[in-house]
Amino acid sequence: MRPSEYGLDPSYDTVWELARAVVATVPEAEREPGTLTREILKAFRDGGLPGYTVAEGGPDPVNLTVMREALMYGCSGLDAMFVLQATGGLLLAAGSDELRSEWLPRLASGEALAAMALTEPGAGSDLKAATTRVRADGGELVLDGLKSFISHAEVADVITVFAREESGYSLVAVPAGTPGLTVTPGPALIAPHDVATVTLDGVRLPATHRIGPPGSAFAQVLAALTVTRASVAGSAVGLAQAALDEAVRHCARREQFGRPLYKHGPVAGLLADSAADVESARLLAYRAAVLARDGAPGALDYASMAKLSASEAACRVVDRCVQAMGRFGLVAGSRIGDLYLLARPLRIYEGASEVLRLGVARALVAGSLGPEHVKAEE
Ligand SMILES: Cc1cc2nc3c(=O)[nH]c(=O)nc-3n(C[C@H](O)[C@H](O)[C@H](O)COP(=O)(O)OP(=O)(O)OC[C@H]3O[C@@H](n4cnc5c(N)ncnc54)[C@H](O)[C@@H]3O)c2cc1C
Repeated sequence: MRPSEYGLDPSYDTVWELARAVVATVPEAEREPGTLTREILKAFRDGGLPGYTVAEGGPDPVNLTVMREALMYGCSGLDAMFVLQATGGLLLAAGSDELRSEWLPRLASGEALAAMALTEPGAGSDLKAATTRVRADGGELVLDGLKSFISHAEVADVITVFAREESGYSLVAVPAGTPGLTVTPGPALIAPHDVATVTLDGVRLPATHRIGPPGSAFAQVLAALTVTRASVAGSAVGLAQAALDEAVRHCARREQFGRPLYKHGPVAGLLADSAADVESARLLAYRAAVLARDGAPGALDYASMAKLSASEAACRVVDRCVQAMGRFGLVAGSRIGDLYLLARPLRIYEGASEVLRLGVARALVAGSLGPEHVKAEE
């Protein structure tokens, strides 16, 4: 079903179809999840995906959400590349003229790749516990600290680093190869996804590399999360739909006790409940993306709710699908087995479910997350 069939503008069908077409250019064996391959990078660049990650004021959240749905459905590696580039596009769009002119055209063409470094060994959900520091020294900035679990840091040409600056926090764009910057791969995760540790040891950069005014990092990260959480919901929908399609095919074909699995009531229940989960997650994801695009009041809380709901739904769905497929759902390297592993991080990164629930509950009590408060601009 195309995005317009859920009420989005038909222009979003075009980008959704483009994303599907780019997936089709990746050789089938390379679509399996795993480390980032040259084929995936080539498809990402040649297919024009980077062009959708950069725009004046930041990329369109609805584009990101529907495209991630289509990318994750077929090739998780493309989805990961796409969202990291988009996060770079979002954050650097608020940078100095120098930063924007140096990086945005290169990100848009795919010549340069982006990563974002917030997390530290002692700072995950509690970002304010970050100890990486940036200080002004004459006309320069000096960074010291350690970031961990940073996606694609090894291949990134520019890493946006979150650091304490005096009593606040700032974002600084650190180009690969800057003296004092070291990137070490790992740890290996159960979900196929490349992360790395980033060490900053007396990294010196011109002051123009600070994104926005000193102390503005939190506001910028929250603005970016409004967009990226809606897009994670889209990605979760793509993953859940892929799992459901696998299970439906299997249960229509395989017979036990003289009839196809889907005609056994409990198996039918696994499939039907999953279909309902996927559809409701999709509607929430699309609405969150529209609210983010329109800068609606309450858009961040709505995006958090959509991310919470869709990521939890994806894990429920993929687990039911494995169950419906019996032992065939457990084969290592099978599509459903890969989807099972890929689903798990969705409930942890970009706001773990428990932390999102706290924010959603707070917004409900404050009265800022209800139908009368969350409205797209007319
Ligand atoms: C695949 C993957 C890719 C990643 N990529 C990046 C990246 O590119 N850049 C980056 O900066 N980071 C990245 N991360 C890190 C990610 O952002 C963190 O894992 C996330 O913020 C959660 O932090 P944590 O893992 O330290 O968990 P913790 O913060 O230690 O939380 C552990 C558990 O406690 C719960 N919890 C924590 N605080 C509360 C609270 N106040 N109330 C209730 N429950 C709470 C959490 O929900 C969770 O269940 C990545 C992580 C993964 C898994």
